Amino acid sequence: VQTSRPHETLLDQDDKYVWHSMKPYNPKATIVATKAEGSWVTDADGKRYLDAMAGLWCVNVGYGRTELAEAAYEQLKEMAYFPLSQGHVPAIKLAEQLNEMLGDEYVIFFSNSGSEANETAFKIVRQYHQQKGEHNRYKIVSRYRSYHGNSMGALAATGQAQRKYKYEPLSPGFIHVSPPDSYRDDTNVSDPRDLASVKEIDKTMTWELSETIAAMIMEPIITGGGVLVPPDGYMQAAKEVCEKHGALLIVDEVICGFGRTGKPFGFMNYGVKPDIITMAKGITSAYLPLSATAVRKDIYEAFKGTEEYDYFRHVNTFGGNPAACALALKNLEIMEKENLFDRSRDLGEQLLNDLTNLLQDHPYVGNVRGKGLLVGIELVKDKGTKEPLDVALVNQVIANCKQEGIIIGKNGATVAGYNNVLTLAPPLNIEQKDLHFIVKTLTESLDKIR
Ligand code: PMP
Repeated sequence: VQTSRPHETLLDQDDKYVWHSMKPYNPKATIVATKAEGSWVTDADGKRYLDAMAGLWCVNVGYGRTELAEAAYEQLKEMAYFPLSQGHVPAIKLAEQLNEMLGDEYVIFFSNSGSEANETAFKIVRQYHQQKGEHNRYKIVSRYRSYHGNSMGALAATGQAQRKYKYEPLSPGFIHVSPPDSYRDDTNVSDPRDLASVKEIDKTMTWELSETIAAMIMEPIITGGGVLVPPDGYMQAAKEVCEKHGALLIVDEVICGFGRTGKPFGFMNYGVKPDIITMAKGITSAYLPLSATAVRKDIYEAFKGTEEYDYFRHVNTFGGNPAACALALKNLEIMEKENLFDRSRDLGEQLLNDLTNLLQDHPYVGNVRGKGLLVGIELVKDKGTKEPLDVALVNQVIANCKQEGIIIGKNGATVAGYNNVLTLAPPLNIEQKDLHFIVKTLTESLDKIR
């Protein structure tokens, strides 16, 4: 592929031939990147951008890691493919290692994307209850403001109506409850079981009839819905409610996993043991597509001893392909060697402190929050009413940052359609000086809209 054409020419060609997720909304706002190294990407004109979103919250070890390319290359030469209806060594090794990271209680089903990992989880929980003779348990509870993927089941689980309504009817049997929002709701309770959001799960499962509920799915921290860090004890209390109703807990670690929140997995911040864990993105730092659904062993055991036609009838041609697994193993090795989970925790604390100190007096900054290298800055028109800031002004901040050479994110869904939360999720190995550059540029970009 020729990459020396100027950016403008590439933009025209991109507009002509490629339909990607943010088009045709604003084709000229696209960056056609040709090279990336560390935390920086370069466009076709040679302009450099600090990628404060690590792609789509995924390039956790940063760009330009030739050892990852080599791991995939070596595996492709050795054996490019063998299906996981059989087995191969990279999948065995990776599953073993993931299980060890998770506490030695899980078996792993591989797919290619976060959406697929979640679809797999939904099918597993439904069949699991069937295996146990509970034929009515099919409903999946999830939360408003969450994002779980683009396929008909994962989108049904997603709690952002504006992403869904044009494609309905989606997969039936998905029910939504409110997430806790420590900025907008009163979450000041002494016992987390008294949180309104926890009571809502209990009430919903009761009214829907416990015996129809298969599972609840949640991210430890809702990411795409605006970086909603839950109040202390929320996740444990939610898990307790699920247990009371006989529902399994699926934790979506697609973004939070692999160090984003300062721990190997996000749930490890909250003292819960999930029944099922889904992961993608950071598993390969996005160098190749790969995802996984980790399932507690006793759930897996319930599928044994059945007739051949009764096994988990779920085939995934490319899922867990040898090159992606080999690359993922190397990726995990880098994360460990460079101590990236602790680094995310420590740098994240510093980033959150710096941003809070610098931005708290800004008239439009309602709230700064996060965990690890995952930060959300909620912009409001008025700090009293907390009405979301007009999207034109939010976009102006993003454009100001882009002008200065920084890519930041915009998320939210505080109110359906509003994206008023600026997000940061840089590579976990980002250099200190680059973090300072983010803080400085973001502060200046916000000052320009005062
Ligand atoms: N779950 C979460 C929490 C996500 O953020 C995403 C993607 N942004 C997905 C699932 C779906 O992943 P994919 O795009 O790989 O299908």
